[in-house]
Amino acid sequence: MPTVPAAALEALAFAVARGWGSAEEEARIVARHLVEANLAGHDSHGVGMLPTYVRLAREGLLVPNRALEVVVDSGAVLVLEAGRGVGQRMAHEAVELGIARSRTLGASVVALRNSAHIGRIGAYGEQAARAGMAFVAFVDVADHDPIVAPYGAAEARLGTNPFCAAVPGSEGDEPVVLLDMATSTIAFGKARVARNKGLPVPEGTLIDRDGNPTTDPGPMVDRFEGALTAFGLHKGSGLAILCELLGAALTGGQTITRPMRHGVVNNMLAILVDPARLAPEGGTGEAVAAVVAWIRAARPAPGFDRVRVPGEPERESRVRRLAHGIPIDARTLAEILDAAAALGLDRAALVRGLEEVP
Ligand code: NAD
Repeated sequence: MPTVPAAALEALAFAVARGWGSAEEEARIVARHLVEANLAGHDSHGVGMLPTYVRLAREGLLVPNRALEVVVDSGAVLVLEAGRGVGQRMAHEAVELGIARSRTLGASVVALRNSAHIGRIGAYGEQAARAGMAFVAFVDVADHDPIVAPYGAAEARLGTNPFCAAVPGSEGDEPVVLLDMATSTIAFGKARVARNKGLPVPEGTLIDRDGNPTTDPGPMVDRFEGALTAFGLHKGSGLAILCELLGAALTGGQTITRPMRHGVVNNMLAILVDPARLAPEGGTGEAVAAVVAWIRAARPAPGFDRVRVPGEPERESRVRRLAHGIPIDARTLAEILDAAAALGLDRAALVRGLEEVP
């Protein structure tokens, strides 16, 4: 598969975001976020999202240059209405506000309502951790058909509701641990890739329309027949439900039960804590490092080269992809260029731009 340097993809994403009407700073935030998702190895949340965003912008379901509206400000609690604003900017600004509050108060709770798709949630864990804050986020996905079955159900009732938690190291550094995951066993995008390649999905990841386990992704991908399973049986399903409740139902955001317009809406409840306020006597940095070292030093099981903590695979991917480029398949690139052309951008100039960046 051809690879493209990160800078070239970022320039392409920036041009597309400018094309749908985002001002420079907003376009810069989206482009950087998407390429960072690709670098982290999460192509499902990278530049391949651009065609969807273009469709949403053209249908008025993603609103460029929307300012966050403060609905509640009671010091440690902020509720922010995003009104389908460009999600990466809405969430970035919401987390910045949370960081500032947590510096003053020790902790804050930030509810972001009704944003357009906010992308890779780990980006916000990294943002908080670089500012020295521990971070926990419960996120729901609304405004489109449910695709995940709760434990024991024969049909979908939820989105892929992501959960994220980050533990900071020193200020300015990447998080020591960053857990960032969908609560479905596999992402919908992975089922689509398997269907396109004519491959089965792993056992336990899908049910058919009668609720029986299946490894055939075709009916789900082509007709939304059946559902993805939640990860970890009843436990992961419980977390997915809590993401729906804490992320959206409790904060006044759009839940999966509300009428949909076939866009993508994310609601996020984020909790940011300054660890220095939890243990003013100090030493927590050493305790965190000791736990992480203890885990990583475990004897690897057969088939594993070594034991990693959450966040490590993404960091390894970033190093690899910065050095060797981001693999991007012809179909994804063609879809991005088609979407750009639909916005009136010059396809030939965009292709030249991809080739010119060293
Ligand atoms: P995943 O299954 O690839 O990884 C989940 C987590 O497991 C990560 O924290 C990763 O570091 C960790 N991990 C993976 N392999 C590991 C290993 N060998 N050892 C230790 N830890 C390991 O991720 P996913 O569930 O497919 O989610 C992909 C992305 O999709 C995430 O960035 C998520 O935020 C995003 N997402 C966004 C939305 C949305 O609506 N905005 C919805 C769902 C998912």
